[in-house]
Amino acid sequence: MGVRRTAVVKLVVSDEQRDALHRTAEQYLYCANRTADYCWSDTSYAECKTNKREVRDALYADLREETDLQAQLVQAAIKRAVEAVKACVKRWKKGQRVSQPTFTAETIDYDTRSATFYRNKVSLATVEGRVEPSFVLPADSPTPYERYVLSENYEFRESTLRYDATTDEFYLNISTRRIHSDDEVSEDTGHSDQTVLGIDLGVNSLAVSSTGTFWQGDDYDHWCREFEKRRGEMQRRGTQAAHKALLRLGKREEAWRKQYIHTIANELVSEAVEHDCDVIAFEDLSDIRERLPYAKWHHVWAFRRLFEYVSYKAPEQGVSVEQVEPTHTSQRCSRMDCGFTHDGNRHGEHFECQKCGYEVNADYNAAKNIGVRYARKRQHKLRSSPKSGSGDAPVDVRVNGGTLNGESYQPLAGD
Ligand SMILES: [Zn+2]
Repeated sequence: MGVRRTAVVKLVVSDEQRDALHRTAEQYLYCANRTADYCWSDTSYAECKTNKREVRDALYADLREETDLQAQLVQAAIKRAVEAVKACVKRWKKGQRVSQPTFTAETIDYDTRSATFYRNKVSLATVEGRVEPSFVLPADSPTPYERYVLSENYEFRESTLRYDATTDEFYLNISTRRIHSDDEVSEDTGHSDQTVLGIDLGVNSLAVSSTGTFWQGDDYDHWCREFEKRRGEMQRRGTQAAHKALLRLGKREEAWRKQYIHTIANELVSEAVEHDCDVIAFEDLSDIRERLPYAKWHHVWAFRRLFEYVSYKAPEQGVSVEQVEPTHTSQRCSRMDCGFTHDGNRHGEHFECQKCGYEVNADYNAAKNIGVRYARKRQHKLRSSPKSGSGDAPVDVRVNGGTLNGESYQPLAGD
């Protein structure tokens, strides 16, 4: 088994470094596209070349000749293209429509030989030789970078340099693998890790994820109120025509509301996929009316539909959907090593822990707790039957900028 961690860091690049990285990306994409050309066959998948070694033997010398790229980068570009062709062939065999992969996004795969990491900077191979951009690190310590890239317990595996054209910034997605067990995760289980995305549903924001994404639902509230107003007017008129118009309006409103929730459901599943989550955890909705006395019927309707839509959309992406017991998820401090639970911690949309002083949006705090509740539930189960082989695994909670392990939390009151 391997426990993998990913950290994303933003790079501070000078104009010269920027040019070098863009030129490197351009030549890298050239290699990847040339490789895809070589491997692909429109006639049949049997004619596509997917043996990495053979493809490399055929192309490597030419690509080194045609570009200024260093050996490792040429090999990485070939590897990326062969893997993409392989994935297409797999879908093709299943009868899905596929076409030759093309590479346009400016991303470069680095390994231990083409990238070297230091505390505050990274050294990257480019067509202009090595460049050494420094990192923009968030103030929250320890950052995922410190915990997983600099830690002796993790070894650096590979990283992907990514240029984001909308922000004109370069990012590094760094992936590491744990080599020594550390105190946060117990490695003796023999199961692989799971990662959960916690979702809080509410009136202030329709949905909030433990990664810190908010689906506000302001326009949902607005339009539901508008529909209601117009329904009221038609009802007061009380004519036959008004009655028919009312039915039409009802149908239109329902279609609109469903479409709205479908969009959020899709975005929520994408959020889980983008953050490599295996599980999406919601709170159990059975007593939602009692727990949210201010929720209108259209809120409750939205919560139930959202859960329903995510429940059938997520499995198509290999993500499962679970529900957890919702008690105290709003009153508990989600900060690692705190977990203090008190009614006075929450004031409307604002959460402030009376013990450690952690201040954060109340719904985001709850979303993290829902993830933690799921993680702890799984771990209790795991401990009570360690040899069950049922596939139960230690679970991490995906939060804004990293992961938290369920084990490192104080118990939730009532657990
Ligand atoms: Zn606290």
